[in-house]
Order: sequence, then structure tokens, then C-alpha cells
Amino acid sequence: METSFERIAKNLTGKPAKYSRFVRFNKHKLQPHDLRFRRCIRCGRSEAHIGVHGLNYCRECFREVAKDLGFKKYGKEV
Ligand SMILES: [Zn+2]
Repeated sequence: METSFERIAKNLTGKPAKYSRFVRFNKHKLQPHDLRFRRCIRCGRSEAHIGVHGLNYCRECFREVAKDLGFKKYGKEV
């Protein structure tokens, strides 16, 4: 499907000055979430990412690795 950006850009092909200005101000800027750069370093999952303390694990891998990393559970152990 054609986006509104592509449609307007096509209409301005014969007008280079207007086209360059349109592209300069209306181009989609790449956001961090577009890249999905926050991924689990163990399984590659991008959802439920734990980045605190530079861990970069997903929630499931964190559960499995937490004990080896030195995280302790206080209170009642199930
Ligand atoms: Zn994972």
C-alpha cells in the first residue's frame, strides 16, 4: 500500500526544490523501537526485556539464569 508520504512525493517529482524540502521535513525518522534493538542476548526475544543493570535478558531467560548471576530470593522459597 502506498503511504501518504509516497503519494505526495510522487506528485512533487517534477518540482525538485519543493520535493527536497518536503523530504527534508517529512521523512520518517527511525525510532529506536523500529529497530527492535533491545533483544535478549540468550534467546533473541524482544518482548519482556530486562535491561536494568545491563542484564539484557528476557523474563524467561532471567528466571533461568538469575541464580547463577548471584540473584537471591529472600523469604519463602517455593
Ligand atoms: Zn531470552
